[in-house]
Amino acid sequence: MTTTPENEVRASTDVTSMTVTELQAALQDGATSAEITQAYLDRIAADDDVLGSYLHVDPAAAVERAAAIDAAGSAGSGLAGIPVALKDVIVTAGVPTTSGSKILEGWKPPYDATVAARLGAAGTVLLGKTNMDEFAMGSSTENSAYRITRNPWDPERIPGGSSGGSSAAVAGGLAPWAIGTDTGGSIRQPAALTGLVGHKPTYGSVSRFGLIAFSSSLDQAGPMARTVLDAALLHEAIGGHDPLDSTSIDAPVPVLAEAARRGAGGDLTGLKVGIVRELGGEGHTDGYEPGVLARVAEAVALLESMGAEVREVSCPAFDLALPAYYLIAPSEASSNLSRFDGVRYGLRVGDDGSRDLDEVMALTRERGFGAEVKRRIILGTYALSSGYYDAYYGQAQKVRTLISRDFSAAYDEVDVVVSPTTPTVAFPLGSRVDDPVAMYAADLCTLPASLAGVPAISVPCGLSDGLPVGFQIMAPALADDRCYRVAAALESAQDDARGSRFLDQLPHRDAQAAGGAA
Ligand code: GLN
Repeated sequence: MTTTPENEVRASTDVTSMTVTELQAALQDGATSAEITQAYLDRIAADDDVLGSYLHVDPAAAVERAAAIDAAGSAGSGLAGIPVALKDVIVTAGVPTTSGSKILEGWKPPYDATVAARLGAAGTVLLGKTNMDEFAMGSSTENSAYRITRNPWDPERIPGGSSGGSSAAVAGGLAPWAIGTDTGGSIRQPAALTGLVGHKPTYGSVSRFGLIAFSSSLDQAGPMARTVLDAALLHEAIGGHDPLDSTSIDAPVPVLAEAARRGAGGDLTGLKVGIVRELGGEGHTDGYEPGVLARVAEAVALLESMGAEVREVSCPAFDLALPAYYLIAPSEASSNLSRFDGVRYGLRVGDDGSRDLDEVMALTRERGFGAEVKRRIILGTYALSSGYYDAYYGQAQKVRTLISRDFSAAYDEVDVVVSPTTPTVAFPLGSRVDDPVAMYAADLCTLPASLAGVPAISVPCGLSDGLPVGFQIMAPALADDRCYRVAAALESAQDDARGSRFLDQLPHRDAQAAGGAA
């Protein structure tokens, strides 16, 4: 490549700390996908023993794929040549996929999820499959059957969950961006706790085909990235109608990168913003850290300074989101997970000719499922059982309707509603793992948007005690572009106020040092 002052700077900058838009520019300037991919693989080799963000990496396959993209001459056009990491709940043809569970150990899916297929068709390079709570049940990634994942900001803390492998990889410099899935917060909460941007799309706007089902009426895949614009680009690549998913919305792929670019201009004149009282507002601060509330208040003030009109909105049914979610999600899970019977996929225990099918199934599930998964299957089976259905599942569905109505009423008054993404910053490893209710409380702010199916983004809004705080922006169904626009405005206003980009604070290099000291 010809040396200009600009690409000299690029060459001296570690590619693993670049944004994807910077990587695209580097590829257009003559960098190769093979060298970018290799740089990430080197970081994975150096740091992932400590971080634990991946479950499967095939360096030879990644380099071969990158070299093929380079040879085809397409690197730098769109997403071609850009590496990506996928949460291990997303099936990938011929590539081990476990959903964080022993019951799928060694399983190689015969097909690609639509999300994986679309990223493949766009020319991205698969770096690996990221760690997660087993079947996406958890908020800390400590429920993975394979390994714990550490938060690159502080390796003694959790990276969030269930997409904690994806968040740790992107924040730690082991992937430029990643796909997560969000059932009750599993994209937004880990993004918030690691200083990333994470977006849960409108339910039905990203295909669920090939996502190992947890709670089918809630599950959505979405982007986790270092900037709002990167997240928008990744979202555009995976979004849009898919005939293979019966709940897929037949609407065009939303225009999101453009919304992010517009938002970065910093003009929010006329935008009406509602602060949700029930999520950390007056009289609802129990369990919220003061540092989190302070950063969120500062973010709201910035939105106002850009011309937004801010008022408080009340959504009383949000107080019931947690109990409703923890009936609905386990109920659907108890049905979805019945397919893991020791016959069709993965693990089979005790099949030595001396036992009948029921015994083999019981032994397989006993060994193959972890404690949290068993807890949810039991809870969900109970909630759905005849005689209790109306009292539990039926009631929870009514609450779900009330939550949707609260959103509708709020959106009659305002364009977006906002809240903290999580009540606290990242908590220490081990501190909640034996207390399921404390663990569930991590999802307090993310559950309403999941239950209502509306889009929601988490964008960093500074630090509390040296750890990232997330700001959540929720919009009406199919108005994902509003989330990106407002998030980009906030991101750029904060960067301007700080005089530096937030993403440059991401602890790309610290994991190794911390690991050495630990
Ligand atoms: N933490 C929540 C749960 O355990 C949400 C998980 C998710 O969004 N996948 O169910």
